[in-house]
Amino acid sequence: MAVSGVNYDLEFRCNADDAWYTCAVVLEHGNQFRVKFKDFLQTYFDEVFTVTDFNTHGEIEQLIRKFRPISKPVEDNECSRLTEGVTVNALYRRQEDARYFDAVVDAVQYKEHTPDKCVCSYLLCWQHGPGEGTITAASIEDICFIIDGDIHPKVSEFTDLVKQKLKGTSVQSQASFSVFLVCDFWC
Ligand SMILES: [Zn+2]
Repeated sequence: MAVSGVNYDLEFRCNADDAWYTCAVVLEHGNQFRVKFKDFLQTYFDEVFTVTDFNTHGEIEQLIRKFRPISKPVEDNECSRLTEGVTVNALYRRQEDARYFDAVVDAVQYKEHTPDKCVCSYLLCWQHGPGEGTITAASIEDICFIIDGDIHPKVSEFTDLVKQKLKGTSVQSQASFSVFLVCDFWC
């Protein structure tokens, strides 16, 4: 059941298994940022961050890199765009398990086919996840184009709050530093 006002409009690289999932983000209580997974609706699965979880700008950048627009499945008539060296988001299948990770197209075996049914075969070199560093074969239905985009407004709203907090902290430490200098001078 979709919660009203919640849009599952971005992709998040999950902390638990490093896989990409479709998610929604919600800013709540003015300082808490909740990531909700489209495929796991119980709040138990949500990842929750608060402003105080972040101590450096590097940590903010790390969080920003965990989000991106939703990858777009490659259509059967677009298979010629999947060339060697392209980074894609693809389904890594192992027994019952199938999750999305990034991979680089290592080789393509093009076959002649009609525009509505691609029968080409792709070798993917996995960039992270359980298959990292290995190469497996995939067909087009498991492969998505990664979409570049601006930072999602809710993500930047939260990271702005964190930046404000960090700025406040550094102003505070500067202030106590000058008090220390004055004291040192007069004492
Ligand atoms: Zn094809």
